Amino acid sequence: MADQYTNLDNMRFLLYDVHDAEELTQYERFQDYDRTSFDIMLDAVKDFSDKELFPYFEEMDANPVTYDDGKVTVHPQIKKFIDMATKNGFIGPWFDYDQGGIQLPQMMYGAVFHILDAANNNVAGYVGLTSGAANLIRTFGSKELFDTYVPKMLEGKWMGTMALTEPQAGSSLSDITTTATPQEDGTYKIKGQKIFISGGDHQFGENFVHLTLARIDGAPAGTKGISLFVVPKHRPQEDGSLTYNDVFTAGDFQKVGQKGYATTHLVYGEDDNCVGYLVGEPHKGLKYMFQMMNEARLAVGSSGIAIATAAYHASLQYAKERPQGRKIESSGKKNVEAGQTFIINHPNVRRMLLLQKAITEGGLSLLVECGKLVDKHMVVEDGKEKDDLHLLIELLTPIAKTYPSEMGKTSISTGLQVLGGYGFCMDFPLQQYYRDIRIMSIYEGTTGIQSMDLLGRKVTMKNGAALQLLMKEIQSTIQDAMTHDELKPYAEILTRKMGTTQKVLGHLMGFAMKGDFERFLMDANMFMEFASTIVIAWQWLKQAIVAKTALITGNTPYGEDFYESKVHTMKFFFKYEVPKTLALEQILMDNEVLTIQNEKEVIV
Ligand SMILES: Cc1cc2nc3c(=O)[nH]c(=O)nc-3n(C[C@H](O)[C@H](O)[C@H](O)COP(=O)(O)OP(=O)(O)OC[C@H]3O[C@@H](n4cnc5c(N)ncnc54)[C@H](O)[C@@H]3O)c2cc1C
Repeated sequence: MADQYTNLDNMRFLLYDVHDAEELTQYERFQDYDRTSFDIMLDAVKDFSDKELFPYFEEMDANPVTYDDGKVTVHPQIKKFIDMATKNGFIGPWFDYDQGGIQLPQMMYGAVFHILDAANNNVAGYVGLTSGAANLIRTFGSKELFDTYVPKMLEGKWMGTMALTEPQAGSSLSDITTTATPQEDGTYKIKGQKIFISGGDHQFGENFVHLTLARIDGAPAGTKGISLFVVPKHRPQEDGSLTYNDVFTAGDFQKVGQKGYATTHLVYGEDDNCVGYLVGEPHKGLKYMFQMMNEARLAVGSSGIAIATAAYHASLQYAKERPQGRKIESSGKKNVEAGQTFIINHPNVRRMLLLQKAITEGGLSLLVECGKLVDKHMVVEDGKEKDDLHLLIELLTPIAKTYPSEMGKTSISTGLQVLGGYGFCMDFPLQQYYRDIRIMSIYEGTTGIQSMDLLGRKVTMKNGAALQLLMKEIQSTIQDAMTHDELKPYAEILTRKMGTTQKVLGHLMGFAMKGDFERFLMDANMFMEFASTIVIAWQWLKQAIVAKTALITGNTPYGEDFYESKVHTMKFFFKYEVPKTLALEQILMDNEVLTIQNEKEVIV
């Protein structure tokens, strides 16, 4: 097992030098924080993760969550994690002080969870979902709901979940059938089933607060008829006791990865005694749930990068220690007399490691960028700046979810290759990272769904306003890069890619304008890959500008090698990854249609 699973210097570089986290502390909401307090937090989380999470990462895989007669049992270390999160205010950390929060910027929350997830990706969700569920009640629920549930959730005693998926309704939530029947006292009787509910039950929660989507009797069909309910496993009574609320845990799904993270099957109202409490207004449930889904999408992207980061460090360490073969001499021949070299000295292994580094550090930079946008959106006054920030977050969220999930897989698969045969063996962690990351491109909206969201909704919303804003941001980075001779060629490549993006979109929009939406969205996944490669190239150029400036001024607190490596990895990304957009452009511009269903079935 590798000693290192992430690099705090890189995190600090991204937070402070590239994305200026300290700027946030000028806002009243975050004024109690400064760089020192942020750093203390990061160090403390790393220390905890070193001692209490990373050593249990393989053990949680070998001893998965178990289910027996309604009872779910998770690894005992989960309790230590929940206690630590509670003590440090990491459940609902962005809540106001008077609501029990610590007003922590999202940027720092993301950094904290990056460390936790990289150390052991089985644990963070238990707390992350509780935060998201509490936040839904805080934003849309009544004061009574808030007072009844949120304090216990922030104390880590009651856990929260998001309960959307049903056996027949996954990607398409318009097909959910769980029912909510109004009662005279204003509550609802809930009946139905939810599957794949993460963190839905375990021995360390006194109660589980399921934020559940259901249909009120007689509600309109489709998404317009979906409402949101708080459905606790146990109903709180006036005297403080709890009564079973007829939410039965019917099973725990056994999975290929994230085996320490419970994934439950819940059955509501088998004995007609399951009570739900409406959140906000009827029929607005899906709109409300989008708050939690968007938070969760960024969290999934963050987990994907964290797992791939840990895998990168494991591969890097292995490559430095594994002797194999000899370096090719300038004659083109192997010198068999010479001793073996470490595999890190072979160009192809170096290429694989650089690919891992380029994907993980580029993806992490995008997530830090998104965190800052969320924070600024929270603190700026209503008006154009706030509206613009909202548009940018909307546009970047599907990319920040998908690039880490999809390219994280590629990165880990490449890392497994670095280990050769040992990569395929259970004695080394690469196979576990490979299995663990696989879920990221499935939950919180599959890659297919995210891609259709990006092309079909986000790029076109408000007449392309979000895209224009993003282009402006990229343009500003290009201008900064143009002031450095060494970076100029890369800035010029990015300028050309912006032009190509307009060309590709012009072509695709033609189909939408003719009303041929199936054709418009046919290759949405290809467009996602194309657009996200360009967005990550932008993030690399941003990093390279900061690194180059540091090298020129000599202000290199992480050591010159660190900054040189940043510029080098940017060049690598532009040489090895950006050209892939040429092939994607060709696919997207090609008029041949091979995937739309015709009268004659061709997939036989
Ligand atoms: C481990 C795990 C944890 C989960 N945690 C939660 C949770 O906490 N809460 C929760 O509510 N859910 C949870 N889920 C459910 C998850 O969000 C769904 O599995 C996911 O949204 C996909 O739904 P599905 O499995 O029904 O697949 P389907 O929707 O059947 O999709 C199957 C395939 O078809 C594609 N597809 C579907 N519809 C379309 C379309 N219209 N156009 C193009 N392609 C389409 C999909 O992209 C996918 O490739 C979890 C799932 C897993 C496996």
